Amino acid sequence: MVLQVQDDSLVDEVVVLKDAGAGLDGVIAIHSTVLGPGAGGCRLWHYADGDAAFADAARLAEGMSYKNAMAGLPLGGAKAVLRRPQGDFDRVALFRAFGRAVARLNGRYVTAEDVGTSVADMEVVAGETRHVAGLPQLAGRPGGDPSPHTALGVFVSMAHAARRGLGRELSECTVAIQGVGHVGEALAHLLHGSGARLIVADIDSDRAACVAAATGAEVASTSQVLAAQADIFAPCALGAVLHAESIEALRARVVCGAANNQLATPADGARLAQRGILYAPDYVVNAGGIINVAGEYLGWAPEEVTMRVEATGARLAAVLDYAEAEDVPPHVAADTLARAAIAAGRVRTPVL
Ligand code: NAD
Repeated sequence: MVLQVQDDSLVDEVVVLKDAGAGLDGVIAIHSTVLGPGAGGCRLWHYADGDAAFADAARLAEGMSYKNAMAGLPLGGAKAVLRRPQGDFDRVALFRAFGRAVARLNGRYVTAEDVGTSVADMEVVAGETRHVAGLPQLAGRPGGDPSPHTALGVFVSMAHAARRGLGRELSECTVAIQGVGHVGEALAHLLHGSGARLIVADIDSDRAACVAAATGAEVASTSQVLAAQADIFAPCALGAVLHAESIEALRARVVCGAANNQLATPADGARLAQRGILYAPDYVVNAGGIINVAGEYLGWAPEEVTMRVEATGARLAAVLDYAEAEDVPPHVAADTLARAAIAAGRVRTPVL
């Protein structure tokens, strides 16, 4: 059963998902469809109750609106959050039921993978609706793992941030990468190719050693990487890593990485600015993955996806220009520009 329960100012539309037989219990939050269909992944996670799931979905949906707007995509923002059933459960039945719920929204919501969901889950969803991306890549079409695209967007952004914040090329910089998983590893290879010196850390020490062997990186412990003697700190693991204590310890003068929600609180963006550290807002620089998802859904050529990802550096430049002109921290500039783009409906909604 799918029930639309409320409209409120935080999100445009909330769809409560309940299908006890299929183990489906969650919510789709559509924050905005001004620029196009609300697009954002489907998260499967443990939540204490429905309110906690809704709060997370609403927060994440708003973030997707801003990310999509700043990436210049003809997409609004949305997110699905499903509560993970206790114990064993029928995954196919759950994602079929979820797919039927997405289908009933007639394209107002486009889903994809997120934390706790996989390509296989999205293939099940695709059996019920065409409003899904993150499927296996077909020849000559965008699709597949978004991580290399995310890494490329972070890389071009970092090159801009290094010039702007340090007056140097990446080949003259040392970059400390926290987390060398899908994105962090791809980023390490791009940086190695550009001649940057690398310091890497990962709670999976085998991963860190493997990336270090391939890129000549120095390995730091996970507790030391934040305060490593580096020019640039690239958070590519967890969110909320930038807070009063960690910002005090940072030696890097630039922060630019893939992790979502790097600032523990908005005040931490101001803290970075006060310390003279250039912060490249996370959702501006890590949009390569959603650009690839958009290309898959909207049928763009792979070259168009790459061109749009490579433009991430120019979009960061525009955000930093605005921050300087208005004398506000970069994260405030990004939010302001994103809200303005949405309010102006600056990207045309595609006909699907
Ligand atoms: P991943 O799970 O493949 O990699 C994360 C890595 O971080 C893992 O190797 C993990 O062992 C390591 N790690 C976890 N905690 C750590 C810690 N305390 N210190 C050091 N390393 C730690 O994830 P990913 O797909 O590479 O994504 C990385 C980050 O980027 C996440 O925050 C994700 O939300 C964000 N992001 C990813 C994409 C994408 O395309 N994959 C797009 C946008 C944003």
